[in-house]
Amino acid sequence: MRKYVIMGVQGSGKGTQATMLGEDLDLVHISVGEIFRLNVQQHTKLGAQVRRTMAAGELVGDDLVEGVVKARLAEHDWNFGFIIDGFPRNERQAEFFLESYDIDGVIHLDMPDSEVRRRVLARRLCSGCGMDYNLLASSPAVAGQCDVCGGELIPREDDTEEALAVRLRDYHQKTNPVLDIFRRKEYVVTVDARPDREIVQQAIRAKLGLPPGALPVPSQDGQPASSGQPASSGQPASSGGQPASSGGQAGPQPGG
Ligand SMILES: [Zn+2]
Repeated sequence: MRKYVIMGVQGSGKGTQATMLGEDLDLVHISVGEIFRLNVQQHTKLGAQVRRTMAAGELVGDDLVEGVVKARLAEHDWNFGFIIDGFPRNERQAEFFLESYDIDGVIHLDMPDSEVRRRVLARRLCSGCGMDYNLLASSPAVAGQCDVCGGELIPREDDTEEALAVRLRDYHQKTNPVLDIFRRKEYVVTVDARPDREIVQQAIRAKLGLPPGALPVPSQDGQPASSGQPASSGQPASSGGQPASSGGQAGPQPGG
């Protein structure tokens, strides 16, 4: 049974890393944001509450979050453990969490504000079809125009320098005291969130003392397959139609 908390700023790949780790280790991934989204979609009582709060321009309250997490964990469907993101959000919740569950580790995805800013401010949205773009990863063929529908690419409404600065300040203000509480118990592993997702995932596993993930596959002679080529699977490597007779020696050998 493994119980982890994952923490990281917007754009740090928290959801991706939690999913990768969770799928491989059979951990239930509990995302508070995802629970809220589903409830809104399914028009539940909780969803209506969340909607009202957000329509009023407010953040979903800590009590509501705490209730959701308690209810979710009380389902006890996490036979092999869980990885939770979006909780705890403050010191009180962190204390409650530590008293109620013996946590195995807190994964802290670290990303400098400058990098968050670079990534978030490179996001664009098509005003026509709603397709997401990130100008760092893949620019459209024509600058400022959607590849799919030709619509104009615009920043998201809340992806301004000012709004992001507020979000970052808010994140650090809330997160630092929580991290401090977990650090006192020596639970926190901090991982650089900037490299590719696979590298980040392997770093998380190494720091938690978990076996490395399925990638990269070591080849048969024990050398790490560092080239990015698939490890030899015994298949012939030829891609063209070479005559099978040339060099074929798989037939029964005469007994000696
Ligand atoms: Zn479009």
